Amino acid sequence: MYLEELFGLNGKVAVVTGGSRGIGQVVSVGLAKAGAEVVIVARSNADETIRLVEEAGGKAYFVRCDVTDEAQVNKTVAGIIARSGKIDILFNNAGTCYHKKAIVLEGEELGGLNDGEATLEEWNSVLNINLTGEYLMAVAVARTMIEKKIKGSIINMASMSGTIVNVPQCQAAYNASKAGVIHMTKSLAIEWADYGIRVNSLSPGYVRTPMSQPPFVHQELLDAWDPMFPLHRMAKPEELMPAVLYLASPAAGYTTGSDIIVDGGYCCV
Ligand code: NDP
Repeated sequence: MYLEELFGLNGKVAVVTGGSRGIGQVVSVGLAKAGAEVVIVARSNADETIRLVEEAGGKAYFVRCDVTDEAQVNKTVAGIIARSGKIDILFNNAGTCYHKKAIVLEGEELGGLNDGEATLEEWNSVLNINLTGEYLMAVAVARTMIEKKIKGSIINMASMSGTIVNVPQCQAAYNASKAGVIHMTKSLAIEWADYGIRVNSLSPGYVRTPMSQPPFVHQELLDAWDPMFPLHRMAKPEELMPAVLYLASPAAGYTTGSDIIVDGGYCCV
């Protein structure tokens, strides 16, 4: 009863971007188990996530949307309001990464750690998805919260890469985008505090998802990371859920503008 009062999400509507796989998939199931109706947003499909939510006894539906496209974002949010009536929680999680150097010298050996020299197009694409996409979703959702006087919770996916610089791979655009997410979060938390909308960010360390596994990551890089984990392993996506549930729920009523780092001690070293 007391736990339900603190952490229960019955009657809430939660939007999860990037819910088709990885962390977003696990969080969709977790939010549904806590009682929320979950709306999954991604570019491909969410068949597997919806099956998992329904197996867990929850309710979910999918809306196809590229979060970098303002018109699609606004249409998506309007469609969710038409179908579900409101949005209480946004888990703003869609993201991408590349491992490329800013400068590769002629004949330089990259040793499987980096995939070459990043183009401006690649830099822009990472910034567009990770930072601008989260901004567009946050603004569109917060507008509905203000209109409907919903004291909602927006959880922006950042990363420990917004605080430290990962090695040995190079990912300047990713690191810059996540540092941007952390400060954008603080800025929007202050801007929307008068409406009772809380905005926080979550900064995981390495998490075992398609983004951190082959073929996206070369075996050489996985081997290089291996001795760096204080807890001797990556996180499981499920290990982020308690922090997400806290930020989404009434328990976090006095938490806004915070960045919660869940990294197994990685940033301490
Ligand atoms: P995955 O690659 O497994 O999943 C990424 C998700 O984002 C997919 O559902 C993808 O769906 C969606 N997505 C990507 N681009 C867009 C877009 N333009 N519009 C809508 N949806 C999009 O990644 P993770 O689950 O590992 O990562 C999720 C978040 O967590 C990211 O923001 C990532 O930076 C962050 N993170 C991950 C860590 C890790 O080690 N895995 C560590 C720290 C932070 P689709 O392709 O169908 O569009």
